[in-house]
Amino acid sequence: MNKTFNLAKLKKKMLSLNHIFPGKNLVFSDGNYNSKVMIVGEAPGRTEDKLQRPFVGRAGKLLDSLLESIYLDRSKVYITNLVNYRPDKNRKPTIDEINKFKKLLLIHIDIIGPKCILLLGATAAMAVLNHNGPLNKVRGKWKIIKIINSYYNILTTFHPAFLLRQPSKKKFALKDLFKFSKKL
Ligand code: URA
Repeated sequence: MNKTFNLAKLKKKMLSLNHIFPGKNLVFSDGNYNSKVMIVGEAPGRTEDKLQRPFVGRAGKLLDSLLESIYLDRSKVYITNLVNYRPDKNRKPTIDEINKFKKLLLIHIDIIGPKCILLLGATAAMAVLNHNGPLNKVRGKWKIIKIINSYYNILTTFHPAFLLRQPSKKKFALKDLFKFSKKL
């Protein structure tokens, strides 16, 4: 199986969906596709759409500093989003958008084949873990989930954009990240 070829094929499929988000750019991924760590956010924001890279705005800076606390950086992780285009005015992706892009995210995970996956926030958790309740029910807990043909270790933590609004919760996110780093 050729990762580069499969990633290019997936990117092409995503590009064919750009009519769903008129005028927006595809924000495919960032980081190292051979990493054993895959990080999944919700959807790009304005800066990400402009620069066509996930997590490069304010939330991204906070994500970088959280990763630094467990000695990771973008050369050591692979980052993407559940939805790969920016929904207008930063609204939450609709159920229909989530379902369309979830299928592609599962393929993305299958291609990368990470050892551990970090989900950021309730929307990513809802899609990947099929979790519909409060985030606190799954946050900080390891789950083993079958995706396509393989099992993955998956941990969920707060979305960094939420942490920007609620900095008092950062200590819990750091705790989750330390737990995450122990499995690597
Ligand atoms: N929030 C996300 O979920 N993803 C990004 O890429 C940026 C902000």
